[in-house]
Parts: sequence; C-alpha cells; structure tokens
Amino acid sequence: MADPTIHLLDEETISHIAAGEVVERPASVVKELVENAIDAGATRIRVLVKSDTAEIRRIIVIDDGRGMSPEDAPLAFRQHATSKIKTAGDLAEISTLGFRGEALASIAAVSEVTLTSRRREDVAGIKITLSGGMITDLSECAAPPGTMIEVRSLFFNTPARRKFLRTVSTELAHVFDLMERSALSHPEISFQLMHQEKEKFATPGRGDLLETIQSLFGGDLARTLITLSPLRGEMPVVGYVAYPLGSRTNRNQIYISVNGRQIASPSLVRAIRDGFGTSLAKGEYPFAVIDCLINPGDVDVNVHPTKREVKFSSERQVMDAVRTTVWSAVTEKAQEHLIHTPAVLKPLPILRDQVSDQPSLELPRPQVVSEGAATYGRSDRQLRVTEPAGTSLSPPDEGSHLPRLLGQVNGTYIIAISDEGELMIIDQHAAHEKIAFDLLQKREGDASASQQLLVPVMVPLSRKDAALVLDAIGDLRAAGFVIEEFGGDTFAVQAVPAGQAKLDNPGEIESLLLEVIEGIRGPASERRLRVFKTIACRAAIKGNTPLSQEQMERLVQQLFSAGPPYTCPHGRPAIVRFGSADLEFLFRRR
Ligand code: ADP
Ligand code: MG
Repeated sequence: MADPTIHLLDEETISHIAAGEVVERPASVVKELVENAIDAGATRIRVLVKSDTAEIRRIIVIDDGRGMSPEDAPLAFRQHATSKIKTAGDLAEISTLGFRGEALASIAAVSEVTLTSRRREDVAGIKITLSGGMITDLSECAAPPGTMIEVRSLFFNTPARRKFLRTVSTELAHVFDLMERSALSHPEISFQLMHQEKEKFATPGRGDLLETIQSLFGGDLARTLITLSPLRGEMPVVGYVAYPLGSRTNRNQIYISVNGRQIASPSLVRAIRDGFGTSLAKGEYPFAVIDCLINPGDVDVNVHPTKREVKFSSERQVMDAVRTTVWSAVTEKAQEHLIHTPAVLKPLPILRDQVSDQPSLELPRPQVVSEGAATYGRSDRQLRVTEPAGTSLSPPDEGSHLPRLLGQVNGTYIIAISDEGELMIIDQHAAHEKIAFDLLQKREGDASASQQLLVPVMVPLSRKDAALVLDAIGDLRAAGFVIEEFGGDTFAVQAVPAGQAKLDNPGEIESLLLEVIEGIRGPASERRLRVFKTIACRAAIKGNTPLSQEQMERLVQQLFSAGPPYTCPHGRPAIVRFGSADLEFLFRRR
C-alpha cells in the first residue's frame, strides 16, 4: 500500500458502498478483525475466544502486521475511515479484503474494545479503550510490533441484536467455521485458534495448502485429495477436492475463495458438484477447497454488507472454469487408478468395520433374482421394530376396519380398498415415517426407549459439527440416544432409539447426526420435532423397496392402529383416497 494512513471517505464514495449490518454475531467480529490482520500483511494471526455457558465473552485477535501509528489508531474507529481506498473509482478494482472503513466503527459501537498497536518503526505503541463507540482511555504503551484487539460484552447496548444470538455452541461453531475458512484461503499465514485455554488448531503458514488442509482435518483426508490444476484458456482455479467423506452429505465442507476472499456461492457449489459428473449420488456433496484467481476488475466485492457474496461480470464463465477444472482432475485421477466405477472410488464410512462382528449389518445386498425371502429380509427388520408392543404378526381379525390390500406398485405405493369401499394409495415411506415419528413422540424421554449397541460407536466430527451436535444433544437423548462427548470432537454413542433398525451401524449413525444438525437451524422451540422428523425419515422404509404381502399388511396395521393418519410428519400425504364420486368424476360418468 503506497499510503497507509487512514482518512475519512468523501460522501460521493460513501454513497457507492453497499450498506447494511456488518456485525451480526461473534463470528462476524472475528471475520472483520482477521480480515484487517490479513490486510495489514500479518504472517501470524492468533484468535482467542472465551465463553461461559451463556455466551461468548471475549474475542482477542493478535497479529504481527504493520500496526498503526498513534495518530491513526483513534481514527480507525471512525465511520468510513480507511487506508484502503480513496475514491469511488477505487471500488472497481479492490485488492484488499476491507475497503469500507466500517468494521471497527461498527464493532466498537456495540461492545467494549481495547486496541493495542505498534508499528515496527515506532518506539512506543498506543492503547485505546472504547465503550459503546466512545473512547474512554487512550495512552502510550509498550507493545510488540503488530496489533491486538480485544472485544468484550458484544451487543451489551443492543438487546434486540443480542436476542438473535443462538446458543454458545452454535455461535462457537460459526467462529470455528469462519477460522477454518480463513486459514484455507490464506495458507501463507499461520493461524492459531484457541478456545478457553485449549488450542483448536494451528496451521503452519508455509504457503502449502495441502499442509494446511492436513493440519485442519488430518492426514486421512489429505491422502484422498485430488489436486486441481489450472486449465489452459480458462480462468485459473486452484485447490483440492475429494469424494464425499464417508457418509457425509452436507455441504459444509466446501470452501470457496475468490482471490483469497472466502465467499458463499450456491452456483459455484453446484459447479463443483457438476464437475464430479454422475459419480455423486443425489444429495451428496464432495469435500472441496478452491480458490478462483480472477482479474479483480471482473469481480464486484461491493455487493453484500458482510462481503459474503460477490458478483462476477460473467458468472457463467467462472462456473464453467470451476466445473471443467474439477472434472478434468477427477477424471484424470480415475484413469490413474484404472477404476471406473464411482462406487469403488468412494471411501467406505471410516468406522464401518469396527462392528463387523454384528451379523445383521446393513451391507449392500447382492441382487436377488427370485422374489424370495431374502429380498424382503431387510425391510422386514425395519418394519418389525416400529411395531407397537403386543401386535401380532397374524392377519388382522375379522371385522377390523383395516383396508384390504391389493398389491404394490413401483415398489413404492401400496394399493388397497378401505372398509368404506374407497380406493386407497398409500405411500409406504411416508406411512412408515409417520409411524416412526409417532413412536418417538410417544416415548419421549422414556429410558426404555433406548436400544443398547453391542459396541459403542465413536463418531469423530469436525469442530463445528461437534459444537452443533452439542446443541441438539438434549433432543437426541429425548429420542432415545445415549450419547456422550468423548473428547476431541468425538462422540460416543452407546445406545440408539429403540425400533430404528437401520441405526446400528456407524455410517448410518454418523449420517443421521449430520442430518440432524443440518436441520437444527430455525426456531429452537420446534427443534425437537425437527430432530424427531429427521430420525423418523431415516428409519423409515424407502420407496423402491419391494414388500411382501405380509409386510404390507403389517405396515398398514401399524399405520391404522392409532386411527387413520393422512399425512407424514413432513406434511406430505401418506394416503390418497378415491371415493366413488372421485372415480365417477375421473371417468366422466358425471
Ligand atoms: P477497512 O478494513 O474497511 O479499511 P476497518 O474499520 O476494518 O475498515 O479498519 C479501519 C482502518 O484501520 C483500516 O483501513 C486500517 O488502516 C486500520 N486497521 C484496522 N485493523 C488493523 C490491523 N490489525 N493492523 C493495522 N491496521 C489496521
Ligand atoms: Mg476491515
């Protein structure tokens, strides 16, 4: 930077700046402070977070960057005070992460801040304390070169915004996620994250992305990575991708940057997935860390108040570059191993073999040609377990009001005639899901609702996923899980909800936990129901599963045992009925 002194932007420039709230939550404070440290040329950035059971109390960011002069430091807290741009024209080609001069002012306005800073060339440093945006203390002090900012009592004077904060573990998960994203977009900087007195991670900062990924996620993942190489004639895209890890299906493990700026971009997520072609199953997301090296003039970073999104002058071109770069790396890797079937390329869930002494594991069954007992075996187990105690397997009594079954269509729908003579089509998945959901609700918090596992299943999670599971742990226990923190972001699952047959293998348990935490966003009051819905949905028989006559009867019997239910917990219909009037209408008899 030619002239690193801070000045106030003029009205004309201010009017071109995308306005909006910068500080939404603790993670946004960390984001802005880390961005400032990066812009200050830091080679080491340390972030210390302290929380208690109620909230995140303190955020400290320490860098070894260029520091501020005693004259500049107080100015930095003024609105629209920046050293990074001068005129509206500069907005067209921004090479720093910050440029609006708003972050420090916005943070200081809603918290208590202490800043200590010294430039390498100055003898003394400066220390400033602010409360609610007003300077309460300013003095010379001894300090190492660089800047340290401490933020306390966030939102102490804005109760409305405080109300929007989620639980401590959710807020921490956002901070961890943000820090991972920062570290991945700047492998040349050494990042250290401390929570309480414990180190959550530290990256080496030697400019090697692979090494950075390894220090964040471990060597097992690093060994499965596929290197992206820029393609001739396309915008350069660099980074690594990997097939979905184990049974992970969430998109939280896609890290996208544009010129070292971390961004959220659903269209680039799609482009990455598309690059894997047909080798990803529906709903599966790969692991990916990519950086798009684009001419700064071709990307507008001034479109979102928190700079989370950017606008490309040609989004199509960027998407094409990402898709083809991923595609060519993935195909090359496949050829290298002479493996062409995607199923073989995909790693199995990591812990699957730990319980291989259980004979009834859900390993994929070989195709069975005859429709014998083997074809139905698996669904049988799933159905049996949602059966209310005391239900006999014999056909329903004479005179009961159960529908008469006619058969199954497409392995998905059961066709029946109700005792009132209506034609009924039952969606077997929706029906079974409804049964499982009702069962979970009925037994809520009942200790006998758990089914002990032979061997406890260890589920290692990422930092942020672990924090989110902690958030939902009460709901998981209410559903019948016996689950404990095992340390190091690993959870030990000792028991699962009784009657959810599929949940006896580690892969399923892990995917269920991940699905549960994907679904816990939204109002806390509805969270338990959402957790139950997720469990019920996974436990239920899927479509495209042939059922024997007896299995269909049992399903229908369970479905009607608590009165006729017409929708599944997600609100999809479980049953559609055609009475004689409907049929007459359909056949234009009336
Ligand atoms: P912006 O980053 O958009 O310029 P900020 O409010 O985040 O606005 O920061 C205001 C100014 O304070 C920056 O332009 C920079 O000159 C100075 N500054 C902030 N943080 C640091 C830091 N960690 N090291 C050196 N200078 C900093
Ligand atoms: Mg800034």
